[in-house]
Amino acid sequence: MATETKTQSETAEKPAAEKQTNCLGCNKPLKKIKKYYRNQKFFCSKKCWKKFLKPKEEQK
Ligand SMILES: [Zn+2]
Repeated sequence: MATETKTQSETAEKPAAEKQTNCLGCNKPLKKIKKYYRNQKFFCSKKCWKKFLKPKEEQK
C-alpha cells in the first residue's frame, strides 16, 4: 500500500529571505555575471566589497 499524503498545510518555517539584488557597495542592481560573493553578501566587485566594509573611508 502506497498512500502518499501530500499536504501543503505547513510550508517551510524559514522566513522568505529577500533575495539580494543590489550591490551593498554601490547599491546598483547585480547582474548574473560578475558577482563578487563575500561574507554571504553579494557585490559587483571586490571594490564594492571594500567599500561596504569601510563606508566611512577617507574620501578625497
Ligand atoms: Zn557594486
